[in-house]
Amino acid sequence: MLRDGKDSNIYKMNTKYNKRIVNKKKILVILFIIALFLIIFVISNISKTIKSYNVYKSYKEEYASLKEVEDKKQEEIEKKRQEKLPKLTDEGKNNLENIYNSSEKRAFLTFDDGPSSVTPRILDILKQENIKATFFVLGSNVKKSPELVKRMYDEGHFIANHGYSHVYSSIYTSPQTVLDEYNSCNSEVQKALRRI
Ligand SMILES: [Zn+2]
Repeated sequence: MLRDGKDSNIYKMNTKYNKRIVNKKKILVILFIIALFLIIFVISNISKTIKSYNVYKSYKEEYASLKEVEDKKQEEIEKKRQEKLPKLTDEGKNNLENIYNSSEKRAFLTFDDGPSSVTPRILDILKQENIKATFFVLGSNVKKSPELVKRMYDEGHFIANHGYSHVYSSIYTSPQTVLDEYNSCNSEVQKALRRI
């Protein structure tokens, strides 16, 4: 059937209108698909973030409990170390506070170059008289008699560094050799004090 001009125009308008509706639907479908993907993407990222956070939380808790155990262990070691240290008496505290302005005459005992064969006797007398002294020890001698250095420490004396060899000609060759002497003595004292 032939259409007249008016019908044909209406038909064209309808076709245009239908096309527009189809296009709108297409766009809506595309937008819907994009939105769906976005939602899936966001949800999957949220779940990943939650999982990561949970892993982080469990590691954090594990670390905290390990740290607590380690801290307690260190605290215990420090407590034992403090218990072993000689306690300062009130008289000792007073002496320290007035170290430079006492009305009494005082002598400070220091012993160089030890430990040696006379060290046990010196330690016995100091103990008997309840006197604390300073021992400037030589690393080479500490190595020979570490137990005496440990005894000095345990009985409350001060251990000071007097170098390692006492051979001046080699000690003062260079700043480095002086430093080496100091460090070698230090490490021997540390080894000696670690003895049980
Ligand atoms: Zn000396």
